[in-house]
Amino acid sequence: MSLLSVTDLTCRHGLLTAVRGIGFTLERGETLCIIGANGAGKTTLMRTLAGAHVPAGGRIALAGRDITAERAFERVRSGISMSPEGRRLFADMTVAENLRVAAENGRAGGWDMDRVLGAFPQLQPLLDVPAGRLSGGQRQAVAIGRALLSNPDVILLDEVSLGLSPAAIEGLYQSLSAIRESGEMGIVLVEQDLTRALGFADRVLCMAEGRSELQGPPADFTRAQITAAYFGIHDDEARHA
Ligand code: ATP
Repeated sequence: MSLLSVTDLTCRHGLLTAVRGIGFTLERGETLCIIGANGAGKTTLMRTLAGAHVPAGGRIALAGRDITAERAFERVRSGISMSPEGRRLFADMTVAENLRVAAENGRAGGWDMDRVLGAFPQLQPLLDVPAGRLSGGQRQAVAIGRALLSNPDVILLDEVSLGLSPAAIEGLYQSLSAIRESGEMGIVLVEQDLTRALGFADRVLCMAEGRSELQGPPADFTRAQITAAYFGIHDDEARHA
């Protein structure tokens, strides 16, 4: 039985279908990177996995248990936490307060404040700084730390490197590598940077217009196949191009 099992998931925004029949499984210790162009449906998929968007159809199961009807706060208790795109921190609260809220409302487990500060040492000198004054990379570290403090089985990381400096991205990925290597959780990550996504993922899922165009270990595909999937180009279209 897989840790996370998603079957035929369809999500709508009014009349627009943003996610069309997506299915995948994720095991503990595995990293799945979701890639795709702007508007492909990545954020809608992540929000649906987190319980922030109600799907129009399909099923989400965690360790075999159907959680499709659970709301976001119930899914955190069940073991799914998201670090959302745009970070959504409490801007007037300090870094320590933002982290504490998550620790107090999360599940018990191996991730506590000390361990988060060990994984993201750049936050140690910033504990008393209001989150609203942080740089993008620092905010991202707090947001991921917050998700970790709920001790999830599955952590969802939306748009990890969006808007960050190359140095901040490098630092974050070093922290993420350590989390990944602990093997404690399954990671679903949305990453716009193809090279980084393919280097970090155990498996990649490429979305175009809401559909899964390609799915599997990065080594199974050529760069040309991945680029074609990214732009939703099918073989028959490519032949006539
Ligand atoms: P991006 O990389 O630009 O964030 P994405 O792959 O995450 O894109 P989504 O944000 O999930 O894609 O958007 C998928 C489609 O759903 C797009 O056509 C988008 O315009 C539409 N959409 C997203 N959110 C809403 C909303 N709240 N109301 C209406 N349409 C929406």
